[in-house]
Amino acid sequence: MRHRAIRPEPLFFELNPRRVRRQGYMLPTLDVPPVEPARVLPANLVRDPDPHFPDIGEMEVVQHFHRLSQLNYAVDEGLYPLGSCTMKYNPRINEQTARLPGFASIHPLQPVAQIQGALRLIWELEEALKTITGMPGVTLQPAAGAHGELTGILMIRKALSTRGDPREVVLVPDSAHGTNPATASFAGYRAVEIASADDGTIDLGALEKMMDDTVAAIMLTVPNTLGVFEHRIVEISKIVHDRGGFIYLDGANLNAFAGRALPGLMGADAMHINLHKTFSTPHGGGGPGAGPVTVSEALLPHLPVPRVVRTGDDYELLWEDPESIGPMRGFYGNFLILVRALTYIRSLGAEGLRTMSDVAVLYANLVRHRLSGAYHLKYDAPSMHEVVFDDSRQARHEVHNTDIAKRLLDYGFHPPTMSFPLIVHGALMIEPAESVAPEEVEAFCDAMLAIAKEAEENPELVKTAPHDTPVGRVDEVRAARDLKVRWMPEDDGA
Ligand SMILES: *Cc1c(COP(=O)(O)O)cnc(C)c1O
Repeated sequence: MRHRAIRPEPLFFELNPRRVRRQGYMLPTLDVPPVEPARVLPANLVRDPDPHFPDIGEMEVVQHFHRLSQLNYAVDEGLYPLGSCTMKYNPRINEQTARLPGFASIHPLQPVAQIQGALRLIWELEEALKTITGMPGVTLQPAAGAHGELTGILMIRKALSTRGDPREVVLVPDSAHGTNPATASFAGYRAVEIASADDGTIDLGALEKMMDDTVAAIMLTVPNTLGVFEHRIVEISKIVHDRGGFIYLDGANLNAFAGRALPGLMGADAMHINLHKTFSTPHGGGGPGAGPVTVSEALLPHLPVPRVVRTGDDYELLWEDPESIGPMRGFYGNFLILVRALTYIRSLGAEGLRTMSDVAVLYANLVRHRLSGAYHLKYDAPSMHEVVFDDSRQARHEVHNTDIAKRLLDYGFHPPTMSFPLIVHGALMIEPAESVAPEEVEAFCDAMLAIAKEAEENPELVKTAPHDTPVGRVDEVRAARDLKVRWMPEDDGA
């Protein structure tokens, strides 16, 4: 167990319960007459005279937030085995390049002549992603993976409407990430579920039946959300293309095969890549991130604007193109994230990227090998970057996946992804991610094995975990039904 003692931290408002007058600033005495707010503002905009701001000093503020930060878990602290999320270490050199003044201090409205270096960086990252995916075009604009999905599906919709063949349906496998059906609906399509075969990949028979001229596209995750490679991907692409549909690949987890396989050769028409999962940029609560989309020849004309174009050694921005789906966000995306991603790609090089994917797969298989005696594997197909167990063995002792996750906190590890994908009941989806040391992966496996043993010998211990954290088990039902996210003055001292 890797804990150090941590005190529970009171709320900001509770730090000074007697409300002794303290303040964290020193301003000179006001040398103009004070203004009554009601005289200059409409009455409904004037707040209660006492907004109940906490009275605390500067050092208390710093210590409060520092202590809160210590309650958190982070990629810089240890293994963060969230399957599908790929929580990997963000190398410090990425931060150094992103802070170079020539990148950090420029403005998107500067004349292009002054930002040639930045445009060149965008162009070079585009070239790198085209090489890594074997696809002829890319946009770096989307702010996250889900936003990339929307961008890709809108390009497909544009290609179909340009062809005079608008369609209605997008096929989404039952194992898919929830963002896939959400994207399809958001783009105006009906998301129709397609079943998985026994090995967890797409059921070709089902696809044959469903693939007709109402289907705009199929959205496939590679490797899929069970961490299994769609080994019939080329056949799937052929069936879909022959009937006029498009192949959308969810490439969020490109860290599983970058440098080893080319989505372009699999038949992809559009694929988003999460820079935060594969190329070591920070995850950011949906942003500021980047989810570039690579495209096939068929979608090239519909890429968003502005686009960076190169003429000789000069770079320009193309703002207008009638065939484009238009801008997906302001300017050219989250530029400093792009700087970090190119830094990572350049520091690893082609051989390093191959090793990255190899290690991602190796670690997932190390976990699979060590844990499959203790935890049940519903799908036995070979694992890529992640492995999905379920809690059926532990459930015999009334211990469920949530209990296992809570007990892991006592062992000092962040839990894996839980209860997802939906086709695995009681799922524990583990992705060590390639950036940690092998000893860390082994230590995580040791903890998981110890918990499996506890589940048999002392299930109560697991069911009541966590025991060693500043906050014990929370009432999840109450948290969902009676959620309080705002402190009100009435609660003061209650
Ligand atoms: C993470 C992920 C997404 C969504 O990416 P965001 O950047 O979080 O929007 C979509 N599909 C898969 C398979 C993912 O793992």
